[in-house]
Amino acid sequence: MPFELSLIELVERIKSGDYSAAAVMDAVYDRIELYNSSLNVFRSLLSREIAVLRARQIDEKIASGKSVGKLAGIPVSIKDNICINDPDLSNSCGSKILAEYHSPYHATVVEKLLAEDALIIGTTNMDEFAMGSSTENSAYGPTLNPWDTERVPGGSSGGGAVSVACGMSLLALGSDTGGSVRQPASMCGVTGLKPTYGTVSRYGLVAYGSSLDQIGCFAQNASDCSYAFAVIAGHDVNDSTSAKTVLPSAPPELELSGLRFCLPEEYVDVESADPEVVESVNELVEMLQKQGAVVERRALEFLKYVIPTYYVLAFAEASSNLGRFDGIRYGVRKQEQPNLKSLYASSRKEGFGEEVKRRIMLGTFVLSSGYYDQYYGRAVQVRAWMEQQVEQLFTEFDFVMGPVSPFPAFKLAEKTENPLAMYLADICSVLANLTRTPAISIPGRPTKAGLPVGLQLMGRRFEDRSLLATAAAVQNVTEYHQLRPENILLKNNKNP
Ligand code: GLN
Repeated sequence: MPFELSLIELVERIKSGDYSAAAVMDAVYDRIELYNSSLNVFRSLLSREIAVLRARQIDEKIASGKSVGKLAGIPVSIKDNICINDPDLSNSCGSKILAEYHSPYHATVVEKLLAEDALIIGTTNMDEFAMGSSTENSAYGPTLNPWDTERVPGGSSGGGAVSVACGMSLLALGSDTGGSVRQPASMCGVTGLKPTYGTVSRYGLVAYGSSLDQIGCFAQNASDCSYAFAVIAGHDVNDSTSAKTVLPSAPPELELSGLRFCLPEEYVDVESADPEVVESVNELVEMLQKQGAVVERRALEFLKYVIPTYYVLAFAEASSNLGRFDGIRYGVRKQEQPNLKSLYASSRKEGFGEEVKRRIMLGTFVLSSGYYDQYYGRAVQVRAWMEQQVEQLFTEFDFVMGPVSPFPAFKLAEKTENPLAMYLADICSVLANLTRTPAISIPGRPTKAGLPVGLQLMGRRFEDRSLLATAAAVQNVTEYHQLRPENILLKNNKNP
């Protein structure tokens, strides 16, 4: 089965003719047929015929002796906010305002995947414009968690995480503004990487909070994420925030011994974190210590400001970025309006969901002239201060560790009535976005009920490769990444 192989191994097998790309595609579509309609994963999807046809073209290329790329024949899903110019796919960003929108160009990451012969099969469900932590804010209904279909998959890139967890794609791209790759990865038992800000081009990613947004990936393990990261990373002239920095390489055989990890006490505060999540973190601490690493618990004062700072900045940037959706240039237009202003207003009123409207209004408020200094200006200063604190921390430690989310996947509708409770779910993940550092979510020991728990490692800026190598070294020991939801789906007979 293609699902048991690493991406490198699978590509090698496809290249050697051991496996055909068409057979891999068929196996993936078998899973899609089983799970997609009940779990609501894809927003747009190639038909099996077209997907297999494209896979056959890769097989023919190989058979005729032509060289193929690093992702030859690998079925990949992309989040619904990453632009793809394909007549058979669309980008709605989980919003009614962009229903069935066809992008006239490819995002840079899409170009890079296609240049390596990856097969992009579909776009995945998400919280509208990536605003949320549960995928319940999608205008097209929530995605369900395959480990327990009464629970959310996390968000905002819930569809991408589920697509990899169920073998409906072998690699998925998502976007992470405050945790949207790592948190659904943690809730679905897959590995999710948020690279250093600026290492992966944002050109063609529909903007939410531009100074925080970063494209990342989901895969079965850290080595596969590392392999995919090498394909999607790199400077891009089309993105003015894209970094030219050459990324330092990681030592080939990374030892955990001697590494120094900081565990912020606030991340495992028993008042706010689920005891089973804390146990899972403690198990990782013990394992690291056994391997000769140093773990130090430390109270970090500044962590109490991360949520307000993140949400002020994210809302402010969102209110400005979403100004472009006015019914004129993109998406849905409300017809027969008496004047231009009412055309804008009614298109936006109908096209945007409640959470998006809330954020646009709050973002406009924090940017308004009377309150700018008090809110937005202040948040910018606090962020700069946090960056200094974190830089200082990384002179003493190699990594910051902790959970990705204070609790495992919660029940559908449990937090929808209380936006503040939903925002607090991001307490452990937003720091990496605020400080532009790389972070990864890897599966830890699951709860007794069998729900996945994700553990986070956060590294120094631009040291993504060491972070990935360290996560891979951890996975060599823990092996929780090998657990798959399939057995549980079958056991519970919940019929997805
Ligand atoms: N949950 C966070 C938010 O709603 C993060 C979302 C994201 O990373 N896109 O803003």
